[in-house]
Amino acid sequence: MLNVKNLSFSYSKTPVLSHISFQAQKGENLAIIGESGSGKSTLLKTIYGEYDIDEGEIFWNDKAVLGPKFNLVVGYDFMKYLTQEFDLMPPLSVEDNIGKFLSNFYPEEKKKRTAELIKVVELSAFAKNKVKTLSGGQKQRVALARALAKEPEILLLDEPFSHIDNFKKQSLRRNVFKYLKDKNITCIVATHDKDDVLGFADTMIVLHENKIIAKDTPESLYHNPTTALIASFFEQYNLIDNSLVYAHQLRIVSKSTKNAQVVTSYFKGRYFLIEALYNNNTVFIEHHEKLKPGTAIYLDISK
Ligand code: ADP
Ligand code: MG
Repeated sequence: MLNVKNLSFSYSKTPVLSHISFQAQKGENLAIIGESGSGKSTLLKTIYGEYDIDEGEIFWNDKAVLGPKFNLVVGYDFMKYLTQEFDLMPPLSVEDNIGKFLSNFYPEEKKKRTAELIKVVELSAFAKNKVKTLSGGQKQRVALARALAKEPEILLLDEPFSHIDNFKKQSLRRNVFKYLKDKNITCIVATHDKDDVLGFADTMIVLHENKIIAKDTPESLYHNPTTALIASFFEQYNLIDNSLVYAHQLRIVSKSTKNAQVVTSYFKGRYFLIEALYNNNTVFIEHHEKLKPGTAIYLDISK
């Protein structure tokens, strides 16, 4: 179990993390979400032991994770950290980059494991290619496979799919998170992408202004977003009569006390997102058809 107790950290005077406490169980997938600059990467780095923290303690089971002041070499065998800047060996092939972290003791086993990992990140066709010839997204996939290679007990992923295109992203997420669950590897994922969280994370932590402002299951936070920030992470939302209402919870009806005026319609595939003015405020509604600007509409909330 990862146990982060009352962690505080600052690079200079201004605090970046204040009194952060949480736990992650063995095999748990825990997502850390927050706006850019909210301290997600810093939190992962402190968990990895990259910095000396100002206050608090970090434990993996009964082992304390210590910063560079107490550790000559940063990092631990039981933990892997995939940074936002994946550092690979460009002149080497995909399979050599991944295999480098596997023991040569059982060559057959090593070959099998490397091939298995290359399959997880869907790069089998590129196994023999040099990493320097790959695209940014492909490099990120090699880095992912490499982080998995040693089967760490805990894996820290910093925006692991950020460079990967939409064509590949969906299946890759499923492959990687399924692999981690199958191997019972604890996984902490920093992200600002809801698709990295929904359907995968067991627990979600929301970082805001140096603090944890929410910690719950994604399902629970989706249904009861306690702040506008949390609602905005999931979907387009509105603040109507002081209550948070997702765009899909706002319906256009033939008559109601809430009259609004269409400003514009955005094609979103499955629906149109209608931008309208209601009481001089902009509101967004999911609707099945495009509406002309200026159309008078009536709104109803169906939660
Ligand atoms: P996130 O990953 O959520 O975008 P970061 O952890 O990278 O956020 O950054 C949190 C805050 O710490 C930001 O204000 C950022 O400017 C600052 N910061 C990040 N890295 C450093 C560093 N090496 N030195 C000084 N300040 C930093
Ligand atoms: Mg970051």
